[in-house]
Amino acid sequence: MRERVADLARLWLTRTGARLDFHFWTAPDVDVGGADIRIAFDPARGSWSWVGTQATRIAREKPTMNLGWMTVELPEDQARSVVLHEFGHAIGLIHEHLHPLHRIDWDRERVIADLRASQGWDDATISANMFEEPPPDAVFATAFDPSSIMMYAVPEHWTRDDFSVGWNTDLSASDIGLIQEAYGVRPEWRG
Ligand SMILES: [Zn+2]
Repeated sequence: MRERVADLARLWLTRTGARLDFHFWTAPDVDVGGADIRIAFDPARGSWSWVGTQATRIAREKPTMNLGWMTVELPEDQARSVVLHEFGHAIGLIHEHLHPLHRIDWDRERVIADLRASQGWDDATISANMFEEPPPDAVFATAFDPSSIMMYAVPEHWTRDDFSVGWNTDLSASDIGLIQEAYGVRPEWRG
C-alpha cells in the first residue's frame, strides 16, 4: 500500500515537471520520525493532510497526513483521487471550494447535516473545511477551477443555485499550471 501511495503521489512530479521531489521511506520497519510528511492509514480518521509547511510544526511522533480510505483493493480512480488531493495539501494547496474570488452559494444547513452524518465532523471542522475562505490577498491562485483535484464533490442539494461538481479523480490543467508556477519547472522537462 505504501508503494501504491508513492506511485500515485509521484504523478504530482511526472505530470508537472515541478522542481520538487519526494523521497519515500516505504520499508515496513522504517522509523518515520525524521520525515517531513508522515502518513498514517487509520481507517477511523478519514482522509486529511496538514497544508505545506504546517507539517513542520507537528510533533514528530504524530502523522501529518491520514489516508483512512486507502486500501490495496481501492479502485484506481478513487485511490488516485484521494492521494493526489492529500498530497496537494502537503505541497501547499488549500481547497478549491474555498476560492476567495468565487463564493459558492451554500445551503449551509444541508452541508452541515450531511457532513456531520457522513464524516462525523463537528461544526468547527465543517466550517474550516467548507466555509472559511481566506482573504483574496492571502492566496496565490488560478481562476476558480471546479475540475481541480482540490475541489470536493458538491451535490446539487448543497447549493442554493443548483451548482454541483462530481468527483474529480485527476489533476486539472490549472492544478498542473499552478504547481509549475509555484515551484518552477525542471529545465529538462518536456510536458
Ligand atoms: Zn482536502
